[in-house]
Amino acid sequence: MSPHEWTAREIREAVAAGRVSATEICQSCLSRIDDLDRELGAFLHVDHDRVAARARDIDQWPAERRAALPLCGVPIAVKDVICVSGAPATAGSKTLETFVPPYNATVIARLQAAGAIVIGKTNCDEFAMGSSTENSAYRVTRNPWRRDAIPGGSSGGSAVAVGARMAPVALGTDTGGSVRQPAALCGVVGLKPTYGRVSRYGLIAFASSLDQIGPFSRTAHDAALVLTAIAGADPQDSTAAPEEVPDFAAALTGDVRGLTIGVPRTLLDQGVDPDILRSFDAALETLRGLGVTLTDIQLPHAQYAIPTYYLVATAEASSNLARYDGVRYGFRAPADAGTDLRRMYERTRAQGFGAEVKRRIMLGTYVLSAGYYDAYYLKAQKVRTLIRQDYVQAFERVDIVAMPTSPTPAFRIGERVNDPLQMYLADVFTVGVNLAGLPGISVPCGFTRDGLPAGLQLVGRMFDEATLLRAADAYERVTEWWKAEPAVSLSSGGPG
Ligand code: GLN
Repeated sequence: MSPHEWTAREIREAVAAGRVSATEICQSCLSRIDDLDRELGAFLHVDHDRVAARARDIDQWPAERRAALPLCGVPIAVKDVICVSGAPATAGSKTLETFVPPYNATVIARLQAAGAIVIGKTNCDEFAMGSSTENSAYRVTRNPWRRDAIPGGSSGGSAVAVGARMAPVALGTDTGGSVRQPAALCGVVGLKPTYGRVSRYGLIAFASSLDQIGPFSRTAHDAALVLTAIAGADPQDSTAAPEEVPDFAAALTGDVRGLTIGVPRTLLDQGVDPDILRSFDAALETLRGLGVTLTDIQLPHAQYAIPTYYLVATAEASSNLARYDGVRYGFRAPADAGTDLRRMYERTRAQGFGAEVKRRIMLGTYVLSAGYYDAYYLKAQKVRTLIRQDYVQAFERVDIVAMPTSPTPAFRIGERVNDPLQMYLADVFTVGVNLAGLPGISVPCGFTRDGLPAGLQLVGRMFDEATLLRAADAYERVTEWWKAEPAVSLSSGGPG
């Protein structure tokens, strides 16, 4: 097995023990990217020299230092909405085409302190707004399981990087499902931590009361390693909670006996693809076989999650994106005759933003405007509370809530681009979790008859990622879905 196929855990153990160098690991991943990414389009920026320099650096550290670092030598792909000092951060937008942040996001500083290596920045929907990665201003990202299918979004590039074995782990962001949904559609693990678990300092904001950074990986164990490294309070982000950060990998005992999993059965009656439902039910049976108790639960307000999310998220986005005015940084429309300041703002924003981002700024501005604020924004905030209370009540009886991650497998590229409502429906099982602030994980749980991956979503109590990871890991121990590898052909001289 060549190093690009190793898990983060295997890489770290081999590098720490001196069995392989960080340089060899990185070269293996970089050549995989060179071979595959022209076609898959997962990455926006890969700086070979910088990666090689960092790997050389690690290889020169004393053995004791390497052995002490939990992610030593582990390459990680990073969604292009997260700032890595000295590397471009476009957020998939023309607006930020030339933006190179002079500082690291807290998550990046922590990963680097743990010995990880940023291997590249990944493609995403513009400002993380979308469910297919088709809203990127730069390139199309393809699903490694079928090239004419979307990878999911908005963190599609990160999901493809891990799914196609170009990086063992990646970071994405999840505002309404953007880690869990692409993870499900690409057949990998995706974790959205509890709101406040991970610092957002250095994350380009979309909707600040919902945004969380989370890992993609092939195993629950690797997700645990990354989460342990990035979680915890941060003086730079007052919403990063002071909650103690456990060693999440130590929680993976393989034992889930006595856990109760609630299933909101009535939610699954409509609109779920039959193959997805079959995989989901089979996964529940597997968990039952491990000693879990299954019970039906109600989430009475879940049916309002999509409209509520698309009011709250657009309102916050319209406010967050007001900063892109062509003055402080980013794109500025070239001056034309008679340009005054107002016209410069208008032209800059008209030319810099894509159609979906404009739609959301307009929707968000509308729902916050005098006369409509009470009818839409305030109402949505009240419904948000009801959605959260549904979960609070459910968690009095159960430890985990299970749903499919996405109602359908990956759809065709282009199929929904002209139908935003259809696109928003992809988020039916994920957005409620963000509105409630809860942690959620998606784990590979099967394939459709067309060979497209399905994801099992597990939702937990606030700050109880440990139970989610333990259940996901126990499920992985008795299933093979997570091992399945897409048959990606090499564009340069590969076998086929
Ligand atoms: N698909 C959702 C949206 O378009 C979620 C995006 C996200 O989580 N960043 O808003």
